[in-house]
Amino acid sequence: MHQTKELRHKAAGHDGTLTDKDELLVFKPTVQQELDFYKAIQNKMYSSEESVEGDVPLYSWMPTFLGVLDEGFREVPEGAKVLSTVVPSDDGSRENSTDIGDKKYIVLENLLHGFSQPNVLDVKLGKVLYDENASDEKKDRLNQVSRTTTSGSLGFRICGMKLKKNASLNGIDAAYYETDDDDYVFLNKFYGRSRTKENIEEAFCVFFASDALSSERIKKLKRTFHQRLQLLYNTLLEEEVRMISCSLLLIYEGDPERWDALKDQDSLLRDDFIDSGDEGDDEVEETVGGRVLSSLSLIDFAHARLAPGEGYDEGVVDAVENLMTLFHDLCIKS
Ligand code: ADP
Ligand code: MN
Repeated sequence: MHQTKELRHKAAGHDGTLTDKDELLVFKPTVQQELDFYKAIQNKMYSSEESVEGDVPLYSWMPTFLGVLDEGFREVPEGAKVLSTVVPSDDGSRENSTDIGDKKYIVLENLLHGFSQPNVLDVKLGKVLYDENASDEKKDRLNQVSRTTTSGSLGFRICGMKLKKNASLNGIDAAYYETDDDDYVFLNKFYGRSRTKENIEEAFCVFFASDALSSERIKKLKRTFHQRLQLLYNTLLEEEVRMISCSLLLIYEGDPERWDALKDQDSLLRDDFIDSGDEGDDEVEETVGGRVLSSLSLIDFAHARLAPGEGYDEGVVDAVENLMTLFHDLCIKS
């Protein structure tokens, strides 16, 4: 058994997110609604009738959901066996025995696993940032945030970034950033809130301005993310869900040695987390870490729900459409 520790390289969000010794899993303090959403999506995954020919299913864009832990349970067994045996994904008994709310940890695939020097960007989606359960005070506050940020104008806003220091950061106001261990920088939520429609593209350029990667590799990253956004857009048009204030998490490898090792081969979609563990080529895993050099994922479902019969989620679809335009422009210019 091994202790958990704080998750490194978080781009945003609350404190208290943990990982295991091998950094395979993420333990995130959660609320009942997020848990319910992951379970509902997992159930849809098991019922094959739901799959629409051709489109990438929604769960492929989400971190693999592995289960739920009580606050008291702070240790995880060693090794990846935890995935299939120790953390059942639907353990009713454990769940019923605890209070609802913030004492629960949701167990997810660590999306950073396999990366050596990840750069991470969290983009919050949607113009409307609250759901029907919010208090009037909260609605007022979040309306104000939306009105005064790109959430209102573009339907998305940068929540935060965690990235390796790069030259393009020099011009950024010190109030927006914290220098971290290992030459990393954290750009806080006020950076994202202060972006405008006019300069949002610059902010994405800062994210991709790795000093360690060649311009060819950076160009490839932008194209790959653009393609992913197009695929995600198609997914979202087929899904009847409401995902208020969920985020897109963009991750890319900043370590050129991993690019060399993988011969610049990236894949559009992440590997299947559970299968990749046992069928995988251990030798490859040891020398190059994971098999992807970047990924795009949907996270943060504290205000998400299935919405059968309600059509697609306009807030999220509009956000992704505007991001597609932005990435199209980024690709042309580089
Ligand atoms: P919160 O409810 O605190 O906003 P989020 O789900 O938005 O939590 O996560 C906050 C941050 O934690 C994200 O910006 C991301 O950097 C990190 N994070 C969340 N889930 C994962 C995951 N499965 N793998 C890796 N990092 C994650
Ligand atoms: Mn969040």
